[in-house]
Amino acid sequence: MIFYSTNKQSTPVSLKKATLEGLASDGGLYVPSAVPRLSSEEIELLREAPFNDIAFAIAKKFSDGEIPDSSLWEIIESCFTFKTPLIELKKNIFVEELFHGPTLAFKDYGARFLAHLTGYFAKEDQKLITILVATSGDTGSAVAYGFKGVPNTRVILLYPSGKVSRLQEQQLTTVGGNVTALEISGDFDDCQRLVKQAFMDGELKQRLSLTSANSINISRLIPQTFYYAWGALHIALRHPGNKAVFSVPSGNYGNLTGGVVAKMMGFPIEHFVAGSNANDSVTRYLEEGRYEPRPTVATLSTAMDVGNPSNFARLKHFYNEDHRAMAADITGCSVSNQETLDTIRSVYDRFGYIADPHTAVGFRAMERFNEEHQTPRHPSVVISTAHPAKFLESIREALDMEITIPDRLQDVLDRKKVSVPMSCDYRDFADYLSKL
Ligand SMILES: *Cc1c(COP(=O)(O)O)cnc(C)c1O
Repeated sequence: MIFYSTNKQSTPVSLKKATLEGLASDGGLYVPSAVPRLSSEEIELLREAPFNDIAFAIAKKFSDGEIPDSSLWEIIESCFTFKTPLIELKKNIFVEELFHGPTLAFKDYGARFLAHLTGYFAKEDQKLITILVATSGDTGSAVAYGFKGVPNTRVILLYPSGKVSRLQEQQLTTVGGNVTALEISGDFDDCQRLVKQAFMDGELKQRLSLTSANSINISRLIPQTFYYAWGALHIALRHPGNKAVFSVPSGNYGNLTGGVVAKMMGFPIEHFVAGSNANDSVTRYLEEGRYEPRPTVATLSTAMDVGNPSNFARLKHFYNEDHRAMAADITGCSVSNQETLDTIRSVYDRFGYIADPHTAVGFRAMERFNEEHQTPRHPSVVISTAHPAKFLESIREALDMEITIPDRLQDVLDRKKVSVPMSCDYRDFADYLSKL
């Protein structure tokens, strides 16, 4: 399979090149030359298959000819060592939990696949690859844990000192091994500027084999199709003849784009509901057909605070720039902070289920969709993107109760923070890199 840029100005590349480059040289996002389709026989064979078999079958379509089956299977087995539970809360209402990975959020799926694929390609070239990441919190920890212990890779994280939560800082600074955290006296923009500047230094980039692991990497998108296929096949098995409607809490729209690709591959999916918070550029586009991004505003679902989502370019590409086609598959819904808190409460009252603020946006969007389309004719699956223990304050405010912190999280909180303090002057960063 070859990949080309959404801007169509750069030459098409292999999966390896697309993965190691991240962003195309024309500034566009890599997309597959065509979405691979699975035949109904191939899908039938996967109906009762375990998660990793489904993941393998899909990944093979994207990596055909580049990665031998045995290596691809090893990559899949190293990535998905945790469960993806699909829980029926009530007849026809499901929640699919994507927070059982090491950082308790769905970004683990993308980050781990990217990490193991990068490790594989680095080994092929007998190189040590250095991944530079500027983070304002969650992406950095998913990347750090994704690459942790992956041979032939090392990660350097830059985070703004005093500007991430204590939990995030602990997650960034206690990984150790091949992961180093630089604590920058500055803000997130300073961290991004330092990383960008390092990438512009050709000699440095070459010598350290620098690569980024940002969220638009095609190898983060591919694994985000796996859990839609898995969920859709599960629903089809339990409710024969019925296709699932997925509700996806969305920020940068990478998660949703994974779902759209899974549907195009032929997995039994009826429709998508895309829940946003007050950052509703895509929601308004779906309703009105005009895309007018606005500055980002802060909300309770912080990981979805994106004013101008970068995956929108990919979504448009997959629908051939056709607003009507996109709106036929996806219904947008914007959810306020107050509704988010109310929904955490109502979901708990109705199902005894604790939803984090992101997942709550998904629940509210799904409820509104079902209200407007009469009772749910199709099984509804709310995608749960984070463990509620990561957002204790919202849970406390909505439910007035304390929840148990999972051992994995408690363990991270108890560990000793190790970071390298650094100014936001590029010369200091360059000096540090030159000694690696
Ligand atoms: C990143 C994130 C989202 C948003 O996902 P996108 O792919 O950016 O739309 C939702 N919830 C949580 C917990 C996240 O970390």
